Amino acid sequence: MANPGESALHYPLGEVLPEPGTTIEIAPGVNWLRMPLPFALNHINLWLLRDRGEDGRDGWAIVDCGITDEATRGAWQQIFERELLGLPVLRVIVTHMHPDHIGLAHWLTARWNCRLWISATDWNAARLGSQRTTSVGGESAAAFFASHGLTDATLLAQVRARTNYYGNMVPAVPSQFRRLMDRQVLAIGGQHWHCIAGYGHAPEHIALHCPELKVLISGDMVLPRISTNVSVIDLEPEANPLPLYLASIERMRALPAETLVLPSHGKPFRGLHTRVGQLAAHHDERFADLLAACAKAPQTAASLLPVLFRWPLDLHQTTFAMGESIAHLNALWLRGQLKREAGADGVLRFSPA
Ligand SMILES: [Zn+2]
Repeated sequence: MANPGESALHYPLGEVLPEPGTTIEIAPGVNWLRMPLPFALNHINLWLLRDRGEDGRDGWAIVDCGITDEATRGAWQQIFERELLGLPVLRVIVTHMHPDHIGLAHWLTARWNCRLWISATDWNAARLGSQRTTSVGGESAAAFFASHGLTDATLLAQVRARTNYYGNMVPAVPSQFRRLMDRQVLAIGGQHWHCIAGYGHAPEHIALHCPELKVLISGDMVLPRISTNVSVIDLEPEANPLPLYLASIERMRALPAETLVLPSHGKPFRGLHTRVGQLAAHHDERFADLLAACAKAPQTAASLLPVLFRWPLDLHQTTFAMGESIAHLNALWLRGQLKREAGADGVLRFSPA
């Protein structure tokens, strides 16, 4: 959802963006590049860090990959030719398992004969996702949305028919990896980068903080313009990801206020503490809106979509929106503020506890 308080953040480069196939050095040894995405979210930011291998070789670490498609492969090819100063890529670091972040990891690690670094949870989830044919679709997802009040037969048929959604963008995941964990410190080039695990958006998202450079590669955990997607999906119907997400970003307040935040979407910005406060306030407002609606009459996740999203949604957006609606409802239900009852129709309705 668009951030109404965006003007409270500071973009040090203004409107400047890297052209496709080129990079901008945003901090010493930290280069910013963008890749196209075929969604409403039309780009992803990726990072190239000057690195030195365990064998003493100079080169680069890539942070996040883009999806698997020809446009992204072509853009990488240009980067390899123009931007690497003749040096090799020594490792590929991935913040989390979503397709725009891990999609081309298999190709990049094979191209450079180097290792993927990622949390074990996200590596496993990505391996599973790339092998399942029905992730984010199929019978189970349709039944899950129906149990949460989605009745539009066309939409449910589209969800049922959606197969290989993840596998199309992530056809393969490297069969070996190096594990990233919370509080691990990586020596990348001459700098130290601290891993910060975050939950609620992906199974175990890893952000990277460099105290010397005062830079945070925030991945999808803190974005300047849109709120991070926090969803419940059919694989874990009673999941409670919102408190996990909010606690994870709350931890970011321990970083210096002047930290330069490098997000996966949008532009590099300063105002980390401000943004964490905005996101907490945003979800508090959504909780209040949902409680008020449920006080008037029992509600389903689907009936609450117009309360949460005040604009028309297409299929892609509806499935994300349902996931977010259920995430808010599960938080209020598991915290004891709402009760959840299945009607004779099998649909779950929420009302004041
Ligand atoms: Zn993501």
